[in-house]
Amino acid sequence: MHNDPAVTEARLARVLDQRLRPAVHARAVPLGVGIWDVRGEPVPVPVALRARYRPAGVGDRWGPAWATCWFRISGTVPEDWDGLTLEAVLDLGFGSTEPGFSAEGLVYRPDGTAVKALNPRNTHLPIGAPAHGGAAFEYYIEAAANPVVMHTGPDDLSFHPTRLGDRAPWLRDAGAPPGEPLYRLRRADLAVFDRVVFELVQDLDVLGQLAHELPSGSTRRWQLLQDVERALDAVDLQDVSGTAAAARALLAPALAAPASARAHRISAIGHAHIDSAWLWPLRETVRKVARTVSNVTQLMDDHPGFRFAMSQAQQLAWLKQHRPEVYARVGEKAATGQFLPTGSLWVEPDTNITGGESLARQFVHGKRFYLEEFGVETEDMWLPDTFGYNAALPQVMKLAGVRWFLTQKISWNTTNKFPHHTFWWEGIDGTRIFSHFPPVDTYNSELSGAEVAHSERNFQDKARTNRSMVPFGYGDGGGGPTREMLARAARLADLEGSAKVVVETPGEFFAGALADYPDAPVWVGELYLEFHRGTLTSQLATKQGNRRSEHLLREAELWAATAAVEHGAAYPYEALDRLWKTVLLHQFHDILPGTSIAWVHREAQETYLAVTSELEQLVGQAQRTLAGPPGPDGQAVVFNAAPHARDGVPAMGAVPRPPRPPATAPTRSGDQLVLENALVRIVVDGRGLITSAHDLGADREALAPGTLGNLLQLHQDFPNQWDAWDIDAFYRNTVLDLTDAESVRATGTGIHIVRTFGSSRIEQTLTLDQGSRRLDIDTVIDWHEREKLLKAAFPLDVRAAHSTAEIPFGHVERPTHTNTSWDAAKFEVCAHRFLHVGERGWGAALVNDSTYGHDVTRDTRPDGGTTTTVRLSLLRAPRFPDPEADQGRHRLRYGLLIGVEVPEAIEEGYRLNLPERTVLGTATVAPLVSVDHAAVLVSAVKLADDRSDDVIVRLYEAHGGRARATLTPGFALAAVVATDLLERPLAQDGSHTVVGSEVRLSLRPFQILTLRLTPAPAT
Ligand SMILES: [Zn+2]
Repeated sequence: MHNDPAVTEARLARVLDQRLRPAVHARAVPLGVGIWDVRGEPVPVPVALRARYRPAGVGDRWGPAWATCWFRISGTVPEDWDGLTLEAVLDLGFGSTEPGFSAEGLVYRPDGTAVKALNPRNTHLPIGAPAHGGAAFEYYIEAAANPVVMHTGPDDLSFHPTRLGDRAPWLRDAGAPPGEPLYRLRRADLAVFDRVVFELVQDLDVLGQLAHELPSGSTRRWQLLQDVERALDAVDLQDVSGTAAAARALLAPALAAPASARAHRISAIGHAHIDSAWLWPLRETVRKVARTVSNVTQLMDDHPGFRFAMSQAQQLAWLKQHRPEVYARVGEKAATGQFLPTGSLWVEPDTNITGGESLARQFVHGKRFYLEEFGVETEDMWLPDTFGYNAALPQVMKLAGVRWFLTQKISWNTTNKFPHHTFWWEGIDGTRIFSHFPPVDTYNSELSGAEVAHSERNFQDKARTNRSMVPFGYGDGGGGPTREMLARAARLADLEGSAKVVVETPGEFFAGALADYPDAPVWVGELYLEFHRGTLTSQLATKQGNRRSEHLLREAELWAATAAVEHGAAYPYEALDRLWKTVLLHQFHDILPGTSIAWVHREAQETYLAVTSELEQLVGQAQRTLAGPPGPDGQAVVFNAAPHARDGVPAMGAVPRPPRPPATAPTRSGDQLVLENALVRIVVDGRGLITSAHDLGADREALAPGTLGNLLQLHQDFPNQWDAWDIDAFYRNTVLDLTDAESVRATGTGIHIVRTFGSSRIEQTLTLDQGSRRLDIDTVIDWHEREKLLKAAFPLDVRAAHSTAEIPFGHVERPTHTNTSWDAAKFEVCAHRFLHVGERGWGAALVNDSTYGHDVTRDTRPDGGTTTTVRLSLLRAPRFPDPEADQGRHRLRYGLLIGVEVPEAIEEGYRLNLPERTVLGTATVAPLVSVDHAAVLVSAVKLADDRSDDVIVRLYEAHGGRARATLTPGFALAAVVATDLLERPLAQDGSHTVVGSEVRLSLRPFQILTLRLTPAPAT
C-alpha cells in the first residue's frame, strides 16, 4: 500500500469535524426555552430572575447590538438516562468563531450563582445534581448581544469603519425603537456527554497535529499517520459511541511513547487576556471578567492540577463589587493555589505614554490589592499585549519588589526580529530584570500542535536554556482555557516528538528559567515596538485627559499634604485613592493609546472632566487653606507646583505675587512681525511662518537656512491595517505644507495666525515671555479631516547625533540617523514633555502639553551644515475602530526652546505642564520639602497611604549623572527611611543619611528614591 499523508490528514479533519465532535453529544433532547429582553442597559441578576419570560425556541432571533437578553432553559432528565453524565449544549448563534468578539453568555442557577460562560468554543453546561430519570432542572443565561466590531479571521482583517462601536440610540433613549436582532439561537439541548468519544477526539487531535508538525522524513510522523489511519478504520461512523473505545486502544501505544530525555520544556500557564475596554465598553468588561472567572473556577473543580494566572487587579476589584459570588470563588481557588493573582499592576497599562508617577501607582495599587485580598506578594510584571516598553521600567519594577517581566508583543515587530526570548532587561539606571518573551508569539494559545512546535522552533535561546513559556486560553475578549486545552496539555506532558508541556505557575517558570540561565544575555534600553506607532497620537482628547490628570494629581497631593502638615487640614485619602484608580484604569493599553471604540473614548472624556473638576476642587481647597485670609487690597499668592523655582516662587511653595514682566509685544518690520526679548529674537513672515529664531547670546540662528519654523504639514495617513494603531512609513511620501494664512496679526502680547484648509481651521498664538527662551505656540484646531496626520515641523540648524526624549523618571537618547534597520524602524518615537536635539555647546528643544508622537530626521545641506528636523505629531483622524476619532475642536500647546541643554528642557517641560496658580491671600507657603540640586526632582509629595501622617517624598536624578543633594523638610523631623514604591522600608543602601534636620542624598544616574519622613510630634 502506498501512503499519502495529505489524504490521511484530510480524512482526519473531516471525520473529526463532521462525525466525531458531534458524537460527543449525540444523544440529545430539546430543552424548554423562555426569553426576556432587557430594555436598556444590563440589569442585576436578581431582577432578571424575577422577570417575565415569553416562550421561545431554537431558530428565534435575539439581541440588537449591545442588548442583553435573558434565556430561561428548563428540562427533565429522560427516564433511561439515569446515572449518565449530562450536559446542556447551548449555542447562542455566535457571530464569530473567536470567543470574546461577539455574543457571549453567562449561565446562572435559579439561586443567582454563576455556573460557567458560553462562547463559540465553549457551549456546554454541566447539569449537575438531578442526574436521575425524571428530575427537572432550570438555568438562566445572561446573553450579551455584543456585535462583531472587528472580524478576526485570518482573511478578514479589513478594518472597515463601523458605527457598531457606539451605544445604540435605543439604549440611551427608552422611547427609541430597538435595533434589529443580530443573533439566532442555534441549539438548546439536554445531551448525554460521551466521555469516551470526547477522549478519542482529543487523542486524534493531538496526534494528528503532532504528525503534521514533524519533519516529512521523520519516522515518528509516518508511524503516527499510520496509527491515525488504523484508529479511523476502527470507528464505525454509524456507531461512533460503540466503537470509540476500540479506536482509542489502537492509539494508546502512540500516546504512551515518551518524549526524548532532553526535549524542550514548555511551561503552560493558564490565562485569559481580557482587554479592560477595547471593542467593548468598560461596563461589558465587568461582565466579561465574571464569565471568564466562572469558566476557569468551574474548570478547576474538575481539574485540580489546573493553574490560572489572572492579571489586572482592577478586574478582580470589579468582581468584588459587582459579582460577589463569583469573587468568592476566586478566594476559594486562590487559597488552593489554583487561581494566581499575577502581574502586580492595577491594569495592563500603556507604558509609552503613561507618566512615571502613574507607573509607580500602577504597581502600588495592583500589588496592594493582591496583598490585602489574597495575602499574595506578586513578583512579576505581566504585559503581554502592550505596545512598547519604556526604559525606566526595570527600575520601577525592582522598586515595586518585582523580579520578572513578561511580554510577547515585540514579536509583532514588522522590521527586526528581537534576538532573544529569555534575557536580562537593563533600564536607564542600570537595573536589570529577568525577562521572557514566550516564543509561541501569542498570549492566546490553544496548545495546538502548531503552537507547541512553533514555540520550540522559534525559541532563540534554546542552545543554552531548555525552558520557555506558553500562556494558554482564549483572550482579548476573555474566555480562558477549556477542557480541550487541558486534555491537550495532559497528552503533551511526555510525548515522543513533542516538547514537554508542563502546566504550572508563572513563578515556577521564572524561577526555573533563571536557575537554568542565570547568565542570559542583556538587552539595554527601551523595548521599542516596530508597529502601532500611531498610538502615540490617536484620540488626542484621551491623551490630554491623562496628561492633565497626572499633573493635577501631583498638585492635589502636594498641596493637600502641605495643608495637612502645616495647618492640620484633613488629607483627602479616599478621594485621592479613588481618583488615582480611575486615572490608572484609563491608562489601559487600548484606552490611552486611542485604539478603542467610540463608546470608550466618549465615556473617557466624561470621566476625565469629572476627575479634573474634583481634583481642581481638592487643589483649590488646600491652596485656600495655605494662602490664608484674603487681604484688604485683593492681594494674591502665587503657587508653584513644579520641582524648580520660577519667577521668584520657590519649587513646591508659594509667595505673595511677585512683580511679573509683561509678555513681549510684537513689533512690525516691513511685512514681518518680530518677538524679541533679551535672549531670543523671533521673526514671523506675512504667512505666519517663522523665518528666523535667533539665539542672541550665542549669536546663532536656530532654524536651518531657508527653512520655515512651525510649518504645519498634512500627510495622507491610511495605513495598510490597524488604522488607529498604525502609521506606515510611506506616509512621508506625500505632504501638503499649510503655508497659506487667512490672517496674521499682532495682538498686544503675541502674534495671532488663522489658517483654514480642507474642512478644518487652525488658530495659533505665538508668545514670548520676558526673560524666557521659550516661544509658546497656543493652538486651537477645529479638525474635520479624515485619515490625515498633522505635524508641526521645526528644521533646526544643528548637527544632532541623537535626540533626547523624556520618558518616565528620565530620558533616552535615540540616533537621528538610519544606519541600521533598528534605527530606521524608529520613524515615529515617543517623548513626554520635551524632546531635545543638540551638538556640543548648543541645542534646542520642543516642549509640549499633550503631544507624544515625534519624528526626528536629519540631512546635510550643500553648505556643509546639518539640518535636524523635529516634528510633533499633533493630530490624526483614523476611522477604525472609531470612525469619528479626533473629529472636532482641540486645544494644545507646545513651545520651541532656543539655545538650551537637556536640563533646561526638563525644567521647561515641567513648567508648561504645571502652570502657576494665583489664589487670593497673603501668606508665604514654605515648601514641605526643598531640594538644593537642579538634577534631583521631586516626583511626588504626599501623606503615607497607611494614614500614619508620615510624609512620602519620591525623587529621581533627572540629568543622567551622579548627584549629591540636600533635602530640607519644612517641618521638624523625627525619622527618615527609604522605602519601596508601596512605602515599605527598604534596606539602607547609602542613598540617604540624616544630618541634623537635613537629609543628605547621594543618587546615581536616574536613580529613583522614595523617602518616608516622620514629622516630630508637636511640642
Ligand atoms: Zn490587550
